[in-house]
Amino acid sequence: MTQGSKKQVIVVGSGLAGLSAAHEALKAGAAVRMLDRAPKPGGNSIKASSGINGAGTRFQRDIGIAKDESFYADTVRSAGQNFQEGPTGIDRKTLIEQLTSQSESAVNWLVDEIGVDLSVVAQLGGHSVARTHRGAGKLPPGAAIVSALVEKLKSNPDFVLENSAEADELLVNDGAVQGVRYHDADGQTHELEGPVVFAAGGFAGDAHGLLSKYRPDLAGMPSTNEARPASHGLLEAVGAEFVDMDSVQIHPTGFVDPKDPAAGYKFLAAEALRGEGGILLSSSGERFVNELDRRDVVSDAIMALPRSALESARQWDITLLLDPGACEVVGSHIGFYVWKGLVQKKKVKDLAPEIIAAVDKYAALVASGASANDALGRKAFGHWRLPSGEANREEEVCIGTVTPVVHFTMGGVAFDSHARVLRSQKEGELTPIPGLWAAGEITGGIHGANRLGGSSLLECAVFGRVAGADAAKSLTGNE
Ligand SMILES: Cc1cc2nc3c(=O)[nH]c(=O)nc-3n(C[C@H](O)[C@H](O)[C@H](O)COP(=O)(O)OP(=O)(O)OC[C@H]3O[C@@H](n4cnc5c(N)ncnc54)[C@H](O)[C@@H]3O)c2cc1C
Repeated sequence: MTQGSKKQVIVVGSGLAGLSAAHEALKAGAAVRMLDRAPKPGGNSIKASSGINGAGTRFQRDIGIAKDESFYADTVRSAGQNFQEGPTGIDRKTLIEQLTSQSESAVNWLVDEIGVDLSVVAQLGGHSVARTHRGAGKLPPGAAIVSALVEKLKSNPDFVLENSAEADELLVNDGAVQGVRYHDADGQTHELEGPVVFAAGGFAGDAHGLLSKYRPDLAGMPSTNEARPASHGLLEAVGAEFVDMDSVQIHPTGFVDPKDPAAGYKFLAAEALRGEGGILLSSSGERFVNELDRRDVVSDAIMALPRSALESARQWDITLLLDPGACEVVGSHIGFYVWKGLVQKKKVKDLAPEIIAAVDKYAALVASGASANDALGRKAFGHWRLPSGEANREEEVCIGTVTPVVHFTMGGVAFDSHARVLRSQKEGELTPIPGLWAAGEITGGIHGANRLGGSSLLECAVFGRVAGADAAKSLTGNE
């Protein structure tokens, strides 16, 4: 239970939830032993590209948003029916209140205490105002936050991070969690004693396991998450309750890599590619949806089309095409995708005839300036400037293949405002499992049917910090 002279908190998972928990546990005077089965820290958190939500921040005020009082209502609206339903004992109202009211302090913590730049604020879909924070530099927000936190934690001698170390079992005595059993890179088994913060992420990458159990219709779909089995079974084994497990977020555009088209893991094709002017074409070369519609609408439209001929993968071959105007505006994204071989630059004259026809038709629509003319309802054309007809044949467009991907799992383990994991007692009443906390994508109950962009990093920071502080407090008996 001790590390040096101090008692330890065990943290499973080194994504933002685990790192936030570790920070607060150290601050409260505990030692921290962090395990991660991956060879490097950061989990999916390091990939986050849009940012973290904060309501009422000084960065919002800098861009003229004097007050932001709609975050709670936006989150409840997005959660949909699940907000009203669900097992007794899940206090969704309190959890959402906590998430939204502590969002400003979470952003301030990352900026002022951890030293992350989050000065740029953008408005994502489903939000009433701009409240998603990222930095002004080139480093995406997930990588900026994770690297700053890891650096800070590593400078503390009471913090030990072990990578390639997978937790296999929670150790239980008399109904209380007392530690973990794990194996290291050499396959050696070890046991650690102490309160456990479980921050092992979601199950979007578990295509043939939990996904097929809870959403058989999505079984085998590729994902923006690493293709790996989920760790929820460890919590199930100690009686934890799960909520909203069938609420799964699909992103319409993950890149199909021509070098490995059936790969289960796909890079996200950022929303900005469509927002700034990109169009989507079916395999027969036709537009079929308003590319700027909600994620679920665009995904459903794609999934109503014939699937890719690939037998081994449940995916679609949709062409994402950006004209030179759109390519220029998202130049930093495009440079990376071209380098990865996911996007090619091609002259219009070298495209397939049906794609040239679609480009000409769309270019004529944009040139008409009459957005009302789009039968699919697209109202904004971004930075598209390619003309129609022979005049465009020598121009270079950016082109890649995309498919819907499983992106985020809203469901997870039931937990309370102290980030304690709950189990079902008599008559369905939920009570905390002593010695066990959870935070981040592994938990369920906050997002309901749909997560707002930017709210996952936020839940990691808010509830990760609560979990770490509370777990550390349990060591002194003042829980
Ligand atoms: C491409 C992409 C972009 C995104 N962009 C955004 C965004 O801009 N804003 C936003 O809010 N959200 C975004 N998200 C979602 C968000 O990044 C994740 O939901 C969030 O980071 C999850 O954090 P976490 O700490 O809960 O889990 P993770 O960051 O996934 O970390 C979990 C860690 O636990 C480890 N682990 C699992 N099981 C075990 C075990 N048994 N033993 C030891 N270790 C284990 C894993 O190896 C992993 O490192 C994005 C997601 C993706 C994939």
